[in-house]
Amino acid sequence: MVRRDATRGLAALGLCCVAVALFSPGLPADAQDADPDADVDEWVEFEDGHTGEHVRAPARDQRPPAPPAEPEVVEEVPPDDSQPIATPVPTDWLPNDGSQCRRRRRHRFCDGPLRVPRPHGDAAALADRLNLGTRAGQYVLEHAARPEWVAAIQGRPSTTLRWPVDGGNLWRGLQPRRGRRHEHTGVDIGARAGTKALAANDGLVIYAHNDITGYGNMVTVAHVDGSVTMYAHLQAAYVFPGMQVRRAQVLGEIGETGIAHGTHLHFEWRIDGVPSNPLPRFTRVPARAERRLRQLESGG
Ligand SMILES: [Zn+2]
Repeated sequence: MVRRDATRGLAALGLCCVAVALFSPGLPADAQDADPDADVDEWVEFEDGHTGEHVRAPARDQRPPAPPAEPEVVEEVPPDDSQPIATPVPTDWLPNDGSQCRRRRRHRFCDGPLRVPRPHGDAAALADRLNLGTRAGQYVLEHAARPEWVAAIQGRPSTTLRWPVDGGNLWRGLQPRRGRRHEHTGVDIGARAGTKALAANDGLVIYAHNDITGYGNMVTVAHVDGSVTMYAHLQAAYVFPGMQVRRAQVLGEIGETGIAHGTHLHFEWRIDGVPSNPLPRFTRVPARAERRLRQLESGG
C-alpha cells in the first residue's frame, strides 16, 4: 500500500505542477499584475536627499518568455506486490546425495539434501544457451550479471526491493569481518521452516542448487539493473535456471541448509559482485522486522 500510495502521490504532484504551469504562465508577471502601479513611472526620492530618476518597471514584452510547460509525465503504477505470486510446487526433483555434511573449523554443517526441480522446457534451453547454473552463481559473487543474461530478462527495473519473507523477522544485517568473526554478506530473516521465500524484484533465475558451499539450497536471480539477489539456506527451491520470475513470486521454502543456525533466509543483494545493504530499499517490511531494522540503523 505504502508504495502504491506514494506513487499516486507523485503522480498527483506531477499533475498539480503541470496544472500550475499551464494556467499561470510566468508566475513573476502575475505577481506584478497584482500591483496596479507597476507599469507607471515612479519618482524616487533617495534617503540622502537627492532626487532620483524615473524607474520603469520592465515592460511586459521585455520579460523573458515563460518556459514551455514540461510534458506531462505520469508514472506508471507498479504492479501490486502485496500478495505472493504462486509458483507450482515441482513434482520432478534432481536426485540428491543426502545431507552432504562436512566440517568447517569446529562447525558441522550440511548443504543437503539437494531439493531443486529438474530443469525442463524453454527455460532449460535458455539456461543452456546462456550458460546459467553453478558457474553463473559463482561468477556473480564477484561480478555484475553478464549483459547477455540481463538482456534476456523479461521484467521491469525497480529502485526498491520487496521484503522477501512475509511474516519474517529481521535477525541481523551485513557485518564486516571483525577479529575471528567472519564477514556477514547479507541479511538474515528468521521464519518457520517451509515459509515461502519471495523474489525481491523481477528477474531471471541464473542459479538454483546447493553446490556453492555453505549456502545450502540457494536461488540466485539476476535483475534488469545488473544486480543480483540470492536466497540461501532453503529447504526446497521451486525454480531452476532460465526461469523468469516476478517481484513477490515464490522461489522456494525457507530452511536451514548450509551454514545456518536456525531456520532463516540468508538474503544477499550484490551490485557488481559487492554485497550491498538492502535494508533501506525494502518495501512491505512487517512491523516487528521494521522495529529491528530501526534498531540496526541506530547501531543496535
Ligand atoms: Zn546470513
